[in-house]
Amino acid sequence: MEPYDDGVIRVEDHGDGIWRIEELFAMPAARGAIWVVDGAERRLVIDAGWGLVSLRDRIPFLFNRPILAVASHTHFDHIGGMHQFADRLVHPLEAGILADPGQKATQILPYLEDYPESLAFEPPGRKFRARDWHIPPAPATGLVEDGHVIDLGGREILCLHTPGRSPGHLSFYEAARRILFPVDIVYEGDILDDIPGADVPSLLASHRRLLNFDVDRVLPGHFAPFDGQRLVELLEAYRSRKLV
Ligand SMILES: [Zn+2]
Repeated sequence: MEPYDDGVIRVEDHGDGIWRIEELFAMPAARGAIWVVDGAERRLVIDAGWGLVSLRDRIPFLFNRPILAVASHTHFDHIGGMHQFADRLVHPLEAGILADPGQKATQILPYLEDYPESLAFEPPGRKFRARDWHIPPAPATGLVEDGHVIDLGGREILCLHTPGRSPGHLSFYEAARRILFPVDIVYEGDILDDIPGADVPSLLASHRRLLNFDVDRVLPGHFAPFDGQRLVELLEAYRSRKLV
C-alpha cells in the first residue's frame, strides 16, 4: 500500500500495516471508512464504502495481494463497493441484505433523501440521485459469527457480534496490538440509534462488552481515530444520555 490522494479517493497510512481509504466525495458523517489490515499472507478489508468510483482503477495497488473483505454491517456507506471484492464475509443476520441490497434495507432511503448534503460533490462520471442508486448485489462467500478469528498470516483479527446499530453489526479487535475497530457503534459523533434495525438496549450491551477489551487505539467507521481513554468517555457519555 502507499499514501494516495487524487481529491476523490484518499489512502492514509495509520501505521502497523493499517491503512484507511476514504471516499472524499461523501461528507464525513456519511463516509464509511474502508480499513485495510495487512498480514503476512493476506490483506483484510473492513467495509467497502459507497463504491461509486472504482478502487481498482484509482488504487490498483490495493489489489496486489490476496484480499478478504468483511462487511461490518450492510448500510449503504459500508457495502456499496463490496462487489469490487471476490471474497466477502458478513454476519448471517445481514447476509440477505448483502445478496439483495435494497434501498430501504441499506438505508439509502429515506436517509439520503432526508440528507441530500450527504455528498460533498458528485463523483466523477456520474450523476447521482439517491432514488436511482441501486447497490450491486455482492452475496457473501463466507459467514462470520461472534468469536470468529480471521487469520491474515501472523496476524489475527477477532470478530465480535455487536448489534444495536444494526442486527448483524460486527466489530473487530486485534489483541496483539490492542486495536479496536468498532465501526459504527461508537465514534466521535451522534450514533444513529432510531433507524430501522437499530436497538438501544442491544447497543448498550455491545458497548458494555467493548469495555472488557484492553484497547490502546480505536479506529472507527467515521471520523478520527482515538485512544482507549476516549473510548470509555464516549461510551459513558452515550450511556448517561440514554439512561435519563
Ligand atoms: Zn456508517
